[in-house]
Amino acid sequence: MADTDFDVVIIGSGAGGGASAWSLSRRKIRVLLLDAGPSYDPSEYGLYKTDWEQRLFPEKAKHRARYTFGPMQELSPERDGLRTWNHLSGKINATGRRIAGEYYHKRGIGGSTLVFSGEAHRLNPESMKMYSRFGVGADWPLTYKELEAYYCIAERIVGVAGPPGEVVRFRSEPYPLPPHRLSYASSKVRDGCRALGLTWVENAVAILSRPYGGRPECNYCANCYRGCTRTDKGSTDVTFIRKAVETGFCTVRTDSQVTRLEAGPADRVTAVHYVDGENREHETSAGAVVVACGAIETPRLLLASKNRNAPDGLGNESGQAGRNFMETLAWSSTGLHPEPLGSHRGIPVDSVCWDFNAPDSMRGIAGGCRFCSATPEADLLGPINYAKRVVKGWGRRHKEEMRRVFGSALTIIAMGESLPNEKSFIDLDPHEKDGLGMPVARINTFLDGMETARLEFMASKTREILQASGAEKTIEEFGTYDIFSSTHVFGTCRMGTDPEQSVLDAYGRSHRWKNLFMADASVFPSSGGGESPSLTIEALAIRTAEHILSLSKRGEL
Ligand SMILES: Cc1cc2nc3c(=O)[nH]c(=O)nc-3n(C[C@H](O)[C@H](O)[C@H](O)COP(=O)(O)OP(=O)(O)OC[C@H]3O[C@@H](n4cnc5c(N)ncnc54)[C@H](O)[C@@H]3O)c2cc1C
Ligand code: SF4
Repeated sequence: MADTDFDVVIIGSGAGGGASAWSLSRRKIRVLLLDAGPSYDPSEYGLYKTDWEQRLFPEKAKHRARYTFGPMQELSPERDGLRTWNHLSGKINATGRRIAGEYYHKRGIGGSTLVFSGEAHRLNPESMKMYSRFGVGADWPLTYKELEAYYCIAERIVGVAGPPGEVVRFRSEPYPLPPHRLSYASSKVRDGCRALGLTWVENAVAILSRPYGGRPECNYCANCYRGCTRTDKGSTDVTFIRKAVETGFCTVRTDSQVTRLEAGPADRVTAVHYVDGENREHETSAGAVVVACGAIETPRLLLASKNRNAPDGLGNESGQAGRNFMETLAWSSTGLHPEPLGSHRGIPVDSVCWDFNAPDSMRGIAGGCRFCSATPEADLLGPINYAKRVVKGWGRRHKEEMRRVFGSALTIIAMGESLPNEKSFIDLDPHEKDGLGMPVARINTFLDGMETARLEFMASKTREILQASGAEKTIEEFGTYDIFSSTHVFGTCRMGTDPEQSVLDAYGRSHRWKNLFMADASVFPSSGGGESPSLTIEALAIRTAEHILSLSKRGEL
């Protein structure tokens, strides 16, 4: 197809872009899906190789975007209990400032879902009203009820396995698949939580508990972030995008980085400029443009697209593009259990406690959190990590100790709400450019008092759960207080009813630019109380796609 023959151009093929591509192409809308990264063949992942533990996800050219950080926050000695440490190596950050760690993500067909752990959560409906209920953050311009049917569609496509009996998040239909059985290690955590009077349930995951949709069931190798060779994990490359391509209406171009969108006359985006793997420049256009580059790269692209018609950046009439950046608020504690639990097996996060997930569950702190059993997430899966982080020394004693201790590590992780603040935003680095001459995104991050108070609660409850689960010695703790480390990022082009305070309307359409839409984590007005975001991104993207279709039918695009 010629580049002019498409109805919709979608930029980015992660959770949001993949779901958008499927939604539109199944309705016979001709879609061009551009992604800056390569495509991956699951048989390339290194899990069956002898050095599997040292291999992470394959590093191909352009598999990550470059970014920089603004000045990092000073740390308070009063919060020393929130420092990251390991019993062999001590404090990981011994300085007085927060470390600029990593924005974990992947470029490529499937985006960051290529490495995600498969958690597939719906938001707590109460966390969508943070401003009206608590005077913080922003309200969602849509209700959970309006999103519910789209959650069901997304769950069916990726194949979510989850437990019956959901109370807080209304469901109009059961999960497509039965839940996974808890690993033996997680059953210890469940017992510990019950002793504390907490509820512990199976996690909802886009990981197949039985064969589904032509994909096999999980083999419990626990290595989702190294890439799922079996394709039972519902990353968008093997679910939404595979189905989109099968319709015959979706063309995928890899290694195609969009460098600029043209803000034209009459409030329309008139061109999409991109550069292919051979450094050739291309220009295309379509009736609608959907930006789904993720919450850091989407504002980067908008801000880099400023011109005479959009002097502050495309879609940035409110000055909110890049603002309201919300990051991952996380804590983990790892201990050693006296029993060999086999904690190196299973799915990465098989069980969860939602008791503190409602935004009013912590006294005096707005925003919720959740706790989960997640030893594989801490990458305690093989002997190399045990030798580096768990068992000290060398020689015969070391060997004996390794044999005794291997598989007995137990990690509890807490994830919490991240509220927007003035000092957390994405802008363009004034000095750094990437290989194509595009300014890189600069991450400006700050945790205010409410965030650190929430982290204190998360750390203390995590420790309590770990102890109740039978762990005798804590050997490592990690938190985002002293290290910026984000897998979940949100909020930099938020939806809202007020065009002065938001970038998009309730359907992900720019308040001003009639054919410009966004469909990724940047659209979230608030982060939720520690829920993983992909399923919500996908549900929103499907809803946005349906809206594009009805606007087009009514001639209003
Ligand atoms: C290790 C890890 C574990 C995770 N675990 C979970 C989990 O268990 N559950 C969960 O829900 N979430 C999880 N997440 C988070 C989840 O993967 C992301 O929230 C989600 O993928 C974000 O979707 P997105 O559409 O916003 O962006 P992404 O999935 O990041 O996709 C953005 C895409 O845009 C492309 N792109 C960027 N800029 C351009 C450009 N200029 N031109 C063309 N293409 C461009 C990128 O190449 C990329 O493919 C995890 C993330 C990581 C890293
Ligand atoms: S645990 Fe299951 S979903 Fe994850 S990589 Fe292994 S087989 Fe795939």
